[in-house]
Amino acid sequence: MRENSALIVVDMQNDFCANGSLPVKDGDTIVPVLNGYIELFKAAGFLVFATRDWHPEKTIHFAKYGGKWPVHCVQGTKGAEFHKDLNLPKDARIITTGDLPDDEGYSGIQGRDPSGRLLSQALKDSGIDRVYVGGLATDYCVKETVLDGLRAGFKVTVLGDAIKGVDVKKGDSERAMKEMTKKGADVITLKDMKALIKKAG
Ligand SMILES: [Zn+2]
Repeated sequence: MRENSALIVVDMQNDFCANGSLPVKDGDTIVPVLNGYIELFKAAGFLVFATRDWHPEKTIHFAKYGGKWPVHCVQGTKGAEFHKDLNLPKDARIITTGDLPDDEGYSGIQGRDPSGRLLSQALKDSGIDRVYVGGLATDYCVKETVLDGLRAGFKVTVLGDAIKGVDVKKGDSERAMKEMTKKGADVITLKDMKALIKKAG
């Protein structure tokens, strides 16, 4: 990997996993795969970002206030914590999304780091050319993060084996994958990523 790359782990939080309030089917199963990517990025000296959905109790995002979703990932709750088996590095940069009452927070690229800087800016400040995106969910936050990343001028690779979708409508995830690749995203698997890094030495 000659490019300066970063990994973005999207919304790997309890509420989106088994027993959460908005579980993505088989969401937990991607945790070990994500950990594999995290190891590779750490070893290569690349930055790891982790986005978190971080809602206030009252937000237009929740069905009871006119939005689409059941209550999930409320700031400071167990449901908003990262999955316990996710091995985020100690220096992982946490990016917060959806923390305002009128913000749905689908795109991690529009999220902010602890200093209030947009992720798009934080990536540019670190000289990042390419971002690798995995996590939950394929047809919402992963999709919006990928499309927004492309719009912001980054090269974007989707971690094909480390994403899962909600599929509110059957085929949503498949359509999301088509849209992402049509707009210019690449797709990779952990096996190919390992080979790529080995080749780059
Ligand atoms: Zn949300």
